[in-house]
Amino acid sequence: MKMNNLDIKRLNSSDTDFSQQLEQLLAWESVSDHAVHGAVVDIIERVRRQGDQALVELTATFDRYSVDSFSELAVSAERIAQALANIDADKRQALEKAAERVRSYHQHQQQDSWQYTEADGTVLGQKISPLDRVGLYVPGGKASYPSSVLMNAIPAKVAGVQEIIMVVPSPDGELNDMVLAAAAIAGVDTVFTIGGAQAIAALAYGTETVPKVDKIVGPGNIYVATAKRQVFGQVGLDMIAGPSEILVVCDGKTDPDWIAMDLFSQAEHDEDAQAILLSDSVEFLDAVQQSMDKLLPTMERSDIIRAAIEDRSALILVPSMQAATEITNIIAPEHLELSVEDPEAMLAEIRHAGAIFMGRYTAEALGDYCAGPNHVLPTSGTARFSSPLGVYDFQKRSSLIMCSAQGASELGKTASVLARGESLTAHARSAEYRIKLQ
Ligand code: NAD
Repeated sequence: MKMNNLDIKRLNSSDTDFSQQLEQLLAWESVSDHAVHGAVVDIIERVRRQGDQALVELTATFDRYSVDSFSELAVSAERIAQALANIDADKRQALEKAAERVRSYHQHQQQDSWQYTEADGTVLGQKISPLDRVGLYVPGGKASYPSSVLMNAIPAKVAGVQEIIMVVPSPDGELNDMVLAAAAIAGVDTVFTIGGAQAIAALAYGTETVPKVDKIVGPGNIYVATAKRQVFGQVGLDMIAGPSEILVVCDGKTDPDWIAMDLFSQAEHDEDAQAILLSDSVEFLDAVQQSMDKLLPTMERSDIIRAAIEDRSALILVPSMQAATEITNIIAPEHLELSVEDPEAMLAEIRHAGAIFMGRYTAEALGDYCAGPNHVLPTSGTARFSSPLGVYDFQKRSSLIMCSAQGASELGKTASVLARGESLTAHARSAEYRIKLQ
C-alpha cells in the first residue's frame, strides 16, 4: 500500500529559538472541558442520590447494556474463573508470566515500619499499613487492557490491600475474557461491569452494592479523568494521566527500524501521543525518518500513528550526547530509551524520567507488558516531581512516639514554652503535667 511520507518535525537544538520550539512541542492542555465537567457533576450527584438504580440506568445509556437489577452488573466468581478457562493457553501463560515478573519486581518495593530510640529514651518511628480497600478502574469503552489490570492490582496485593474492587465497562454487555482472566490472576476480589463517571462515583461514595473504597487507581477517558478530579479528597487517587510519551536518545548506532518502531509503539496509543528522538547524527535522523515512512503502511493503526507523529512528535538534532541528557531533563519524559553504547554512564546525568530503558535491546514495549516495573507512569513532565505507580501508593504511614518519663519531662519544657508562645494554654498544661519536679 502506498502512503504519503510522514510530515514529522525536524528540530535542531543549536537553533537560537530552540527553547521556544521545545516549549511549544511539549505544551499540553490537561483534560478540561466545561460540557464534560457539567455532565460529570450530574452523573456523580445521581449516583449519590439513587445508588444502584442510577448505575443501572447510566449503564443502559452509555454502555448500551440494559439489565433488570444491579445484581446482573456484578460478575460472579464462577464467571471470572470461566474466563481463565476460556482464553487460549498461550494467552494465559503470557498473563501468568507477566504477573509473576510484575509481582517479583514490586516485592522489592516493600517497606517495613521503622523505629529508633532517642538519648532520653523516647522511641520514635513510622508504622506502615496497607490501605483497606482499593477501587481499580479498567477502561473498556473502545479497547480492553488486561495489562492495566495486572499493573494496578498486583502492587496493591503486594502492599497487603485487603480488598480490590474492579470496575470495567462492558459495552453491549460483552465481557472481555482476557480482562477477567487478568483479574483472576492478579487476585482482584470483586468485579462490576460499570464504567465512566458513574463507576468512579460508585467507588468514591459507595452504593447499596458497590463498597466505598479508600483510593481509586487506573486510567480512563475524559469522563473518568474528570470524575476522578471531582472525587479527589473523598478518596485518594493515583494520578490523572495525560497522553502517552516516549523519548529515545540514540547515538546513531542502533538499527533505525528498531528506533522507528519504538517511536510508533507509543504513537499508536492515540492521536495525542508524543514520540521524540534525540541524536547527534543527522544521517541517523534521516535513516529513522526513512524507516518510519517504510514501516507506516505495515501498521494496523497507521492513521493514529500518523496523527501522533505529525502533530506532537519530532526528530531533534543535538550537538553532543551531553546536550541530549540536558534536553531529556527538561522534557522529563514518561518513557526514556537510552539506545547508546554505555547507558549506565548516561544514567548518572538523568534526573527526570518515569521509566528508563537502558541499552539497544531494551524496547519500551517490554516494560509495558512484562519486564516487571509498573507501566503506570508520570506523564506530561510530571516526572519532575512524581514516580511510577508502586507498592508505596497502596500503603500509608503513621508516626509513632512513645515517651519515657525522662523524655516526657524534657520535651515538656520545650513544648510548654512553644505552646504558651501560641497562647494555647491547654497544650502547655498538658505538657507541663508530665514535667518531673527536680
Ligand atoms: P473508558 O472505560 O475510559 O470510558 C468508557 C466510559 O465512558 C463509558 O462506560 C461511559 O460511561 C463513559 N462515556 C462515554 N461517552 C460518554 C458521554 N457522552 N457521557 C457520559 N459518559 C460517557 O474507555 P475508553 O473510552 O475506551 O477510554 C480509555 C482511555 O484510557 C483512553 O483515553 C486510553 O488512552 C486510556 N488508557 C490509558 C492508559 C495509561 O496507562 N495511561 C492505559 C489504557 C488506556
